[in-house]
Amino acid sequence: MLLITNATLTDGREHQRVLIENGRFRAIAPDLPTPEGAELLDAQGWLLSPPFVDAHFHMDATLSLGLPRLNVSGTLLEGIALWGELKPQLTQQALVERALRYCDWAVAKGLLAIRSHVDVCDERLLAVEALLHVRERVKPYLELQLVAFPQDGVLRSPGALDNLKRALDMGVDVIGGIPHFERTMADGAESVRILCELAAERGLPVDMHCDESDDPLSRHVETLAFHAQRLGLQGRVTGSHLTSMHSMDNYYVSKLLPLMREAGLHAVANPLINITLQGRHDSYPKRRGMTRVPELMAAGINVGFGHDCVMDPWYPLGSGDMLEVAQMGLHVAQMTSLDGMRACFDAVTLNNARVLGLPHYGIGVGHPADCVLLQAGSPIEAIRLRAHRLWVMRHGKVIARSPAVATALDLPGRPAVVDASAAR
Ligand SMILES: [Zn+2]
Repeated sequence: MLLITNATLTDGREHQRVLIENGRFRAIAPDLPTPEGAELLDAQGWLLSPPFVDAHFHMDATLSLGLPRLNVSGTLLEGIALWGELKPQLTQQALVERALRYCDWAVAKGLLAIRSHVDVCDERLLAVEALLHVRERVKPYLELQLVAFPQDGVLRSPGALDNLKRALDMGVDVIGGIPHFERTMADGAESVRILCELAAERGLPVDMHCDESDDPLSRHVETLAFHAQRLGLQGRVTGSHLTSMHSMDNYYVSKLLPLMREAGLHAVANPLINITLQGRHDSYPKRRGMTRVPELMAAGINVGFGHDCVMDPWYPLGSGDMLEVAQMGLHVAQMTSLDGMRACFDAVTLNNARVLGLPHYGIGVGHPADCVLLQAGSPIEAIRLRAHRLWVMRHGKVIARSPAVATALDLPGRPAVVDASAAR
């Protein structure tokens, strides 16, 4: 039995005691007695948060930066071409090593669940095999969900649909797609139909890269919503990126949002990547390119933020820090109201958990005891400071720990850091 004392929760409750038994939260209250023999863990007033969740990542490409060369134009299309050059050179061992290294980074940052796309446009399905192996290896400490992603287009790339089905047979969890990369708008729409019908047939969720362009006339999310609604897939379908919405006509968006809501679509923005890849063909003013996050949220649509890339053909930076993602999303979407900032914290925790369909997520009685102690007093402060992770817990066990940092010492009203010398 383990008792966490003096924790602040993300809903603002302070001085909470959290009892953990058999890997689950057993009770949460300010006045819980200390059970005999219980181990004590003092949260020192810091923020006890549910773990971070990443709703959109590419673990097969991560940490491959510079292989075989760098992306000079900085565009999505050069990134896809570059990945195509790298693919024949991939080995399973290198894929596994890079993915495991990234999972270590993630856990240290309190990121305990990741939905990763895995490219299936490769006869050998090397990356699929590698990431299925990684999914099992990391299971004790990280939930990895895999999406069968036809990077080169399920219709445009020969054999892609068969490869995708093979990947599903091997145990990949979700059906992906990339309609804006098919040869024509009509082919894109056809790919959405085929993939949604496959999902309905197999009882699987869908998560498509959708309208990832600056083209104001890209209409694939409309088609995705149509088929989700037609096939009764409400709550199981996610549109990722949706960057064209940034450039769409306002009247059209006013029609589109209720259709997405009716279809129970989840939306995932990838702020770090959208702000760097989009608008590359503009002179000035340059479009930001991220989808309409506050408007989607106001329409009642669940919106998550993904990291998308870390040190790969599309993005040279990143560290697995979902607070960096939240901070960028907040800035790009100008969500600086108190509610807006708080919503950005939810976008990397609760909302992403909904996208992944994680049962029993969050700090609640009966849920698995997964949490992270952030050196901050509130979710907004956690974003502002990109708060230090003091410890990370999975199923009631601390699996990562690091000493407090000195930067928080000057915060008004914050508890004192016990061992400030360790922070210098
Ligand atoms: Zn992506």
